[in-house]
Amino acid sequence: MLLGKYKISPRVLRVGAKQTISVEGLDEVTKIYDDVDYEISVTRTDGWKYKEGINFLQRGRDLTSTQICRAENGVLSFTYDFDYECEYEIKVARTEGDTHFPERQEKFWSGKKSRATRGFTFRVYAVCDDLYEKRPYKCDLHIHTDESDGNESPKLVGATYRQYGYDAICITDHYTMLGSKMAIEAFEDIDAGLKIFQGEEVHPFYGSIVHVVNFNGKTSVNDLYYSDTKKAEKEIEALADGFDFPDEVDRKELAYFKWCFDKIRESGGIAIYPHSLWSVFGAYNVRTEISEYIIKNKMCDAYEIFGGMSKRDNRLSVELLAEMKRNGIDLPIIASSDAHSIAGHGSAHFDDTFSIVFAKDKEQIPNAVLEGNTIVVENFDTSDKIAHGNFRLVRYAYFLLDQYFGEHDLLCNALGTALIGLDPGDSGQKEMVAKLNKIVTDYENEFFGNNRI
Ligand SMILES: [Zn+2]
Ligand SMILES: [Zn+2]
Repeated sequence: MLLGKYKISPRVLRVGAKQTISVEGLDEVTKIYDDVDYEISVTRTDGWKYKEGINFLQRGRDLTSTQICRAENGVLSFTYDFDYECEYEIKVARTEGDTHFPERQEKFWSGKKSRATRGFTFRVYAVCDDLYEKRPYKCDLHIHTDESDGNESPKLVGATYRQYGYDAICITDHYTMLGSKMAIEAFEDIDAGLKIFQGEEVHPFYGSIVHVVNFNGKTSVNDLYYSDTKKAEKEIEALADGFDFPDEVDRKELAYFKWCFDKIRESGGIAIYPHSLWSVFGAYNVRTEISEYIIKNKMCDAYEIFGGMSKRDNRLSVELLAEMKRNGIDLPIIASSDAHSIAGHGSAHFDDTFSIVFAKDKEQIPNAVLEGNTIVVENFDTSDKIAHGNFRLVRYAYFLLDQYFGEHDLLCNALGTALIGLDPGDSGQKEMVAKLNKIVTDYENEFFGNNRI
């Protein structure tokens, strides 16, 4: 945690272009002095290159480059050319001749042989242009409210998600888009930085076995089905007859899925295939042969790898997808909570699993999902988050989870708390929310710099 001690900007840098990082001490003890030489050491964490004459123990030298710098008006700026996409450790140390000690510290250390180390380290990440232009957004795209069988109102759900650091959510109540519309309306003219997408969980009648998430659809596919069930059933019947489904799968069930996926796309939405390995009443929600067929044929746009399932079912989901990948099938992945209550982390799956979507801005999140620019995170143990997905994105995400999201979520906590119970008619309260949101966006801008090429 650097918040409150140092202001360091940016922490995400561009590979292949000279980059300047500035460091400012925010506390009396971390203050940077203009008349002191500082030694800056930059160490690439992605291993060393073999060189004649350098052995294992000396390799640090080969990974580290040092320079001596002086601050101006308390801000230490230095330039470095990051030539490879990975995490870097930067050490800032005062060189000899340092005479600045706060008076009360001087008293403590006088006469003692060892003094406090006057250096500190921080980490940055250099990324190539395609990632440099994107920002990571913490998303949950499958959530229920009391517009279906969830426990809280859409407004309270939205505010609580912001409190937990979420940048974007999609409320997906069973059979209806109403919950998401109410949440969008509740935050319409409130500057809270939370993007809310329209959505629903689609269940055409079939003992309600069929679950498909409509993320960002403009119109309701549930409404389409229930407003003219006969017509929809006819279409589904035709799909079951006409489609080249293998004999071993339930043609009718698969036809229901196909109809949902197609209609969601027609509604302008993204069809997410959710919680396929969810154990409900002692059995998986869907037979694996059907899930495999859906994934293999890329019938959906994205696969919900985690969604309100147990740890065991999540791990199975990871392996199912890994096996598909070995067979050359790559499908965008999403992790959602499928939360039915927001009573706190870990209750009814809230905040247990989430996605990080890498997009140019929040409006671009649906496109980023379609392009597969997502990774998924298991958050059962908040101090030991486990990320899955594309190796390059996961490696970057671990840096972000460690160095960015912790502080980001802390700032969002204050903002979300102010949002809960906000009276939209009270301009003073709205102003306070906007101010707290500005603290969050300032932090984001400092962390990522202008991140434009
Ligand atoms: Zn469901
Ligand atoms: Zn659900």
